[in-house]
Amino acid sequence: MLRDRNETSHVYDEEKARSIYENIVGYFPEMKRTFMLLKERYLLEVIEMDKFMKRAVELAVANVRDGGQPFGAVLVKDNNAIAEGVNELHETYDVSGHAELLAIRRAQKELQTNDLSGYTMYASGEPCPMCLTAMYFAGIEKVLYCASLEDAVEVGLGKAKLIYEDMQKPKSERALSMIQMPLNEGQENPMKLWEERK
Ligand SMILES: [Zn+2]
Repeated sequence: MLRDRNETSHVYDEEKARSIYENIVGYFPEMKRTFMLLKERYLLEVIEMDKFMKRAVELAVANVRDGGQPFGAVLVKDNNAIAEGVNELHETYDVSGHAELLAIRRAQKELQTNDLSGYTMYASGEPCPMCLTAMYFAGIEKVLYCASLEDAVEVGLGKAKLIYEDMQKPKSERALSMIQMPLNEGQENPMKLWEERK
């Protein structure tokens, strides 16, 4: 996974750190929380809480009080909050009703553009693959998050982590089966149509 490590100057071997961490936690399960904090602070170079993340966390807190999931997001450009969102799955039948996606949708609708390059996403929880992908498509280059995927797993919100893991498997081994169905001969090909458009 691509991660922004502009702020760090040291080399961080995530695989090695993870294996050491899992070994230690395996022996001393009660130390898990302490090691998580150490890992965050010393290996991931934690950035201090700022006003935008405070707002994202406040949105998440309010959303839980409102019967929803603990996720809030603030989309920022040039030190200004442009759009916000919370997880709305408790109110709408829409799996895309995630905090970050709704913030992106609102900003794009307001600004009438699909291009959000130069924007930073502040998310109270580490984004799921769907929201992360939307950020890629929108050209967002930086995400700051508060609670990690692991923190979400601990409170029973483990789906995002499972999907990330599934997507790393070869297509044939994923939980979601994907089978190609080629065009018939003579059928109009939308890809070709696109290629030949004028
Ligand atoms: Zn999401």
